[in-house]
Amino acid sequence: VTIPHLLDDTVARFGDRDAVVFSDAGLRLSYRAFSREVDRLAAGLRALGLEKGDRVGIWSPNRFEWVLTQFATARIGLVLVNINPAYRLAELEYALNKVGCTALIAARAFKSSDYLGMIQTLAPELAQTKGAPLRAAKLPDLRHIIVMDPEPGPGILSFDALRDMGSADDIAALDPITAGLKPDDPINIQFTSGTTGMPKGATLSHFNIVNNARFVTDRIDLTEADRLIIPVPLYHCFGMVMGVLGCVSKGATMIFPGEAFDPAQTLDVIEAERATALYGVPTMFVAMLQELDTRKRDLSSLRTGIMAGAPCPIDVMHRVHDDMHMDEVTICYGMTETSPVSFQSFTDDPTDKRCETVGRIHPHLEVKIVDPNGETVPVGEKGELCTKGYSVMIGYWDDKSATASSIRDGWMHTGDLATLDADGFCAIVGRVKDMIIRGGENIYPREIEEFLFRHPKISEVQVFGIPDQKFGEEICAWAVARPGVELDGEELRDYCKGQIAHFKIPRHVRIVPELPMTVTGKPQKFIMRDLMVEILQ
Ligand code: ATP
Ligand code: MG
Repeated sequence: VTIPHLLDDTVARFGDRDAVVFSDAGLRLSYRAFSREVDRLAAGLRALGLEKGDRVGIWSPNRFEWVLTQFATARIGLVLVNINPAYRLAELEYALNKVGCTALIAARAFKSSDYLGMIQTLAPELAQTKGAPLRAAKLPDLRHIIVMDPEPGPGILSFDALRDMGSADDIAALDPITAGLKPDDPINIQFTSGTTGMPKGATLSHFNIVNNARFVTDRIDLTEADRLIIPVPLYHCFGMVMGVLGCVSKGATMIFPGEAFDPAQTLDVIEAERATALYGVPTMFVAMLQELDTRKRDLSSLRTGIMAGAPCPIDVMHRVHDDMHMDEVTICYGMTETSPVSFQSFTDDPTDKRCETVGRIHPHLEVKIVDPNGETVPVGEKGELCTKGYSVMIGYWDDKSATASSIRDGWMHTGDLATLDADGFCAIVGRVKDMIIRGGENIYPREIEEFLFRHPKISEVQVFGIPDQKFGEEICAWAVARPGVELDGEELRDYCKGQIAHFKIPRHVRIVPELPMTVTGKPQKFIMRDLMVEILQ
């Protein structure tokens, strides 16, 4: 099955049901109306001259245009390239050139960042283009720039004008193009979060992501009666695959509370829309729980959802059950390179299993845990998690060597340390790269983070290693205090004494106002590590 076939099928079964709600923009469309809009945009992209296999960048926060573009590009076999909304000039240039984008579709601005201004700076030639395809020295492959603004300026097409560009003939010509698409065609280049360094572009096929979306939503029993809140970024697989494609595969309604995550707004929209399901990364749930402490909402309509992307502190999991009404919340583990999900809990797994593990393997995938020599370890032992099956990406775009080192014999080497128990439940221990070896002891930051997180004054904490002459590595912790609370590093070190082994007590503790985060809400230890090394010099 391809993405356009999936949408067609859903329109045939659930055409009159709500497909998309953007509550802050006051927008609500049925599946039938949505699919008509998709065709209109696809015809516009054709009229522009774009052909199957061309790469189209999308650079935007969560907006309706994003979702439309996702399906319109798929309708005619264009490869959608997700560009991180937090990117600035140099990163935008890097991403567009890395994958050779022919067209870029961008928001006008997002928060304090002026996307249009940055585009104009990168392509000063725009002013002289006068309707002809662009030729810009810094962006050699880029021909068309489309901005979500009625009057975006010389050389730039407005998104609405693009939607109006296709003729009736262009629309009629779509079906034969769609009929020629194959499930294994590349359809998406998704950049990884950049948690451990420069983001990598994973090339994924229709087959990869349509199937994953289906299996993910099977596990939470999502149906056409469900109303799912998507506060996670569309640019990431959590939003566009597990969220958008997940809803389309079941005929459920996707509800976007705003352009970017805001805890109060998200809770208000859950209440107003009587939502049944909610997605988020753990830090979002932490923020929503804090917001609930200041003002209660009626969340009784909530049933299930997914918490994924990073380890979830166990206390947070319990409060999500109890205070947010999400008795059936599941945990997922996955990565962009595997479309993304490979492990997920079932809604009726015992709570402790849903707290302590990422559940069991998805259908049609194989799994193994290996030691540094590639040998499978005994049940219960730690090693690198590897997965194999339909969900493994085609490869990193234009990077054969990175692809070859990650995918060996069809096995995706995830870079994550994990254990598998005899019943098949998988626990993520941390990243291979993040494991600290101090004086010959293997130390898993997650274990110390779990312990420190129980301190009543802490709202977030990260533990990481830095090079040390004496011990090889030394342990550091960065913590964020709860709002309005005084906290100092020594207090945390004292808290550890007698509670955890002396060699696990962080040597350097810093209290910071916030942690460096990816837009997907993941703490970036590599930045903390670099800063800490600089500070201690
Ligand atoms: P980059 O590869 O650019 O450094 P990233 O690995 O964070 O960034 P993603 O593909 O968005 O990019 O995230 C996948 C990673 O997220 C996994 O490899 C794993 O480390 C982590 N992860 C995902 N789900 C979970 C989970 N439920 N528990 C713990 N960690 C998780
Ligand atoms: Mg990764």
